[in-house]
Amino acid sequence: MTNTILLKSRPEGKPTVSNFEFVKDNSELEINDGEILLETAYVSVDPYLRGRMSDAKSYIPPFELNKPVQSGVVAKVTASKNDNFKNGDYVSGMLAWKTHQVSNGEGLLKVDGSQAPLSTYLGVLGMTGLTAYLGLNQIGKPVAGETIVVSGAAGAVGSVVGQIAKIIGLNVIGIAGTDEKIEMLKTKFGFDAGINYNTSKDIKADIAKAAPNGVDIYFDNVGGPISDAVLFNINRLARIIICGAISVYNSTETPMSVSVQPFLVKNSALMQGFIVSNYAEKFPEAIQQLSAWLSEGKLTYTETIVEGFENIPNAFIDLFEGKNKGKMIVKI
Ligand code: NDP
Repeated sequence: MTNTILLKSRPEGKPTVSNFEFVKDNSELEINDGEILLETAYVSVDPYLRGRMSDAKSYIPPFELNKPVQSGVVAKVTASKNDNFKNGDYVSGMLAWKTHQVSNGEGLLKVDGSQAPLSTYLGVLGMTGLTAYLGLNQIGKPVAGETIVVSGAAGAVGSVVGQIAKIIGLNVIGIAGTDEKIEMLKTKFGFDAGINYNTSKDIKADIAKAAPNGVDIYFDNVGGPISDAVLFNINRLARIIICGAISVYNSTETPMSVSVQPFLVKNSALMQGFIVSNYAEKFPEAIQQLSAWLSEGKLTYTETIVEGFENIPNAFIDLFEGKNKGKMIVKI
C-alpha cells in the first residue's frame, strides 16, 4: 500500500494540517526497464517548503494543488531494473511525500549508511550542511579573529554555520528562541555567546555587549526585527548573508523593517541573498570537507527525529514554533 500526502490548499498565514490531504492506494507499484522502486526511510521538512506552498513567483516553481508535496528524502531501493542501482541501496534526492514510489534514478545520489547515519544526508551532510558551508564561505569570506552573529542559530543551518566559524577561528554569537537552545549552542556547538530573542529586553544592546568589537559577518536565517537589531552593530566592510527569513514566511501583509541602505552605505557593507543550488559545482568539495570535519570530531550535529509518515505535516508546521533542535527529520 502507498500512502501519499498532497497539498490540498495553499496556507494563509501559518500552515495547518488541513492544508494537506492523506491518500491511500492499494495497487501494486510496477517498474519498467530503467526504473527503481523506492521505500521512503527519512523525510526532510524545511522552512523553504512554505514558499513553494504559495503561488508567488520564486526561484523554484510552486507546488501544484492536489499533487504530492516534495522534499529531500532518503529511500531504500526495494526493486531495480536500472543498472546504476541495486536492491538494498539507499539514495537521497528530491522525492514525493509518499511511502513508496517509482523513479528513473535521475537526480538521485547513492548514500552509504555505513559511512554516516542515513539521516545525516538530509542534514549536516545534505542540503542544510551545504547551505551553511557555502553561504558562509562564498559570501561571508570569514577571517580568523572576526566576529559573526548567526540567527536561527540552534537550527539545522545555523548550528553548522556557528561551528564552521569556530573552526576558522571567529568569535561566534548565536541568536535562538529558548534558554535550552542557548545552552546547547555554548556547550555542544562551542559558540562563544548566545542571545535568547524571546526573553531579551534589548537585542541590539545584547549584541553590542557580546560583540564589543562589532559584527563583521551576519548569517541571517530569520529576517525581521532580530536582523534589524544586528544591523545597528555591523562594522565597516561587514558581510551580511541573507540565507532565509523564517520570521516573515507566514506573514499575510508585507513585512516592514528598518531601512538597510544607511547601514550598508555608512559601513561599505555587503548584503547578499543566496540559494544553495547556485553553488552546485562546489557540492563535492563541500561534502568532502564537512565529512572530514565530522570524522575528525571537529563538527557535530543534532537532529530532532519525529516518527511516522502521518506526522510529516505536523513536523513541518512545528518548525515555525521552534520545536526542533538542529535538523528536523521524519523517520518513516
Ligand atoms: P531550522 O532548523 O533553523 O528550523 C527553523 C527554526 O527557525 C526554528 O527551530 C526556530 O528556532 C526558528 N524560528 C521559527 N520562527 C521564527 C521567528 N518568527 N523568528 C525567529 N526564528 C524563528 O531551519 P533550517 O536550518 O532548515 O533553515 C534555516 C533558514 O535557512 C530558513 O530561513 C530557511 O528557509 C533557510 N534556508 C535557505 C537556504 C538557501 O539556499 N538560501 C537553504 C536551506 C535553508 P527558534 O526556537 O530559535 O525560534
